[in-house]
Amino acid sequence: MRTISYTRPSDVPGAIAAVTADPGSAYLAGGTTEIDLLRLDVLRPRHLVDVGRLPLTAIEDLDDGGMRIGAMCRMSDVAESPAVARKFPMLSQALLQGASPQLRHMASMGGNLMQRVRCSYYRDTESACNKRVPGSGCAALDGVNRGHAVLGTSEQCIATHPSDLAVALVALDAMVHVEGETGPRVIPADDFFLLPGDTPEREHPLAPGELITAIGLPAVPMARGSLYLKVRDRASYEFALASVAVALALQDGVIQEVRLALGGVATKPWRARRAEAVLTGQPPGADLFDRAAVEELEPAQPRPMNAFKVQLARRTMVRALHTAAEAGGFA
Ligand SMILES: Cc1cc2nc3c(=O)[nH]c(=O)nc-3n(C[C@H](O)[C@H](O)[C@H](O)COP(=O)(O)OP(=O)(O)OC[C@H]3O[C@@H](n4cnc5c(N)ncnc54)[C@H](O)[C@@H]3O)c2cc1C
Repeated sequence: MRTISYTRPSDVPGAIAAVTADPGSAYLAGGTTEIDLLRLDVLRPRHLVDVGRLPLTAIEDLDDGGMRIGAMCRMSDVAESPAVARKFPMLSQALLQGASPQLRHMASMGGNLMQRVRCSYYRDTESACNKRVPGSGCAALDGVNRGHAVLGTSEQCIATHPSDLAVALVALDAMVHVEGETGPRVIPADDFFLLPGDTPEREHPLAPGELITAIGLPAVPMARGSLYLKVRDRASYEFALASVAVALALQDGVIQEVRLALGGVATKPWRARRAEAVLTGQPPGADLFDRAAVEELEPAQPRPMNAFKVQLARRTMVRALHTAAEAGGFA
């Protein structure tokens, strides 16, 4: 049996100091990822620093129309916030389609961004996994990889990024506010998630001890008509096989601006910039939507068991774009 010590600092500087001082320590928020992986021996912290009761729970409207959400807000509180649902429906829909009601009551926003991949080889300490043990290999490459990524993969790792919330944040150009020993800084959501490349063990650009304190949502007026579409093996309590966050602005019969991001198919929440370039300035329609989806998925590198995801993602993108365009008054 391993002994793990536990502290619960009452303020942010105390929490940061505790984790920075000891490389064997880790933050604990709702515990819905951390405790599972601790039990599986995948994570082996000596010391847990409980940040779950830090005063980072405000959901605030900003004067410019954006919002700021504290990192310790529960997923359920944010999902049910009337302001979030009105201004950023894709965000509340992504949260409500994640996990289960019980988990959403426990899980924090910061913890959601830091959750680990669901790759069964990562979670099994007997298997080769470069993310868990750098240089040990990737059993998923030729293993059971039906749920794995087709975009952003490397020869070192093909694990899919699991968060639904993160897909919406990347589409909304959200900012992740963090604080560490050297003070606060802000990281664009798209840069907060790293591609695996040759260092799949490094998932975020965080310095040791840096704590997520808040998520900033800039004003995106067209996000009021946005949506999150998630396709999965069962209708609830399941991770995405493919998901799409989309917001469209239509003017004078053409797509003036579009935000599109994919989940369930990539090693990080995937901003679909190739598709956005195809769509922008064009009149909406079935052919255009399909062309944009095909363009986005062109670099996909499927394996035999997950090749279906390319078709599934294509159809999910087309359906989400149709729904968003119809909501904007275009059939
Ligand atoms: C059965 C099951 C189904 C799930 N389904 C989904 C799903 O469909 N979609 C989805 O998006 N998610 C899903 N999840 C994941 C769930 O959303 C995450 O487990 C949860 O959001 C993590 O938040 P937490 O507060 O419990 O984090 P914890 O478990 O406490 O922490 C997770 C990690 O983040 C670190 N951490 C926590 N807070 C901070 C912070 N503020 N700053 C820096 N590091 C921090 C911890 O050290 C730890 O490494 C599922 C989880 C389970 C168990």
